[in-house]
Amino acid sequence: MSDRELSKSNSGLFIISSVAGGGKSTLISLLLKRHEDLLFSVSCTTRPPRPGDVPGHSYHFLTVDDFKSRIDRDEFIEWAEVHGNYYGTSKLFIENAIQSGHAILMDIDVQGAKIVKGKLPTATTIFILPPSEEIWIDRLRSRATDSQEVIERRIRNGKVELSQSDWFDYQIVNDNLETAYGDLEKIVYSEK
Ligand code: 5GP
Repeated sequence: MSDRELSKSNSGLFIISSVAGGGKSTLISLLLKRHEDLLFSVSCTTRPPRPGDVPGHSYHFLTVDDFKSRIDRDEFIEWAEVHGNYYGTSKLFIENAIQSGHAILMDIDVQGAKIVKGKLPTATTIFILPPSEEIWIDRLRSRATDSQEVIERRIRNGKVELSQSDWFDYQIVNDNLETAYGDLEKIVYSEK
């Protein structure tokens, strides 16, 4: 599919972004569990797997060399450096999913969201907001699994992302999980 054909397709593509610890992954997992017709775009990344990550399911885990070769071969519809690692979305997967008529969920950062929306203007963009900046920062700092340096970098990057949340077609405040889930489900099934 050429970039021009891709840009004209009525994609049924949902781009979901948030800050680290905004609850986006939980909401996406719930949506995928309850709706088997939705496809999840599994990204490639150079970050090491975390406990609970399933290769090929959460991410395709690549070496930096492999990731860079794929950039050179133009295999990503978008890629970005996020929190010090590379992340990218397979162009082939998106083309095949669009052609199969399935709705697709993408969990990508704000830079990636803007690139994909530029290439696929019919995509719907959704930002998951934490209940407040204070609650979000407290939550991140109390995560025992991450180092202080990682947490501070995520806070710095997250503040920049929060300042761009108005750019998204929809904002969902993740104050209560079931309410936020209901909002997300409503958006996906009214836009689909
Ligand atoms: P994590 O490492 O915590 O799973 O993800 C870190 C950030 O990278 C999240 O904001 C996530 O949405 C973003 N991300 C995951 N996959 C991609 C991708 O393919 N492209 C871009 N641009 N960001 C991604």
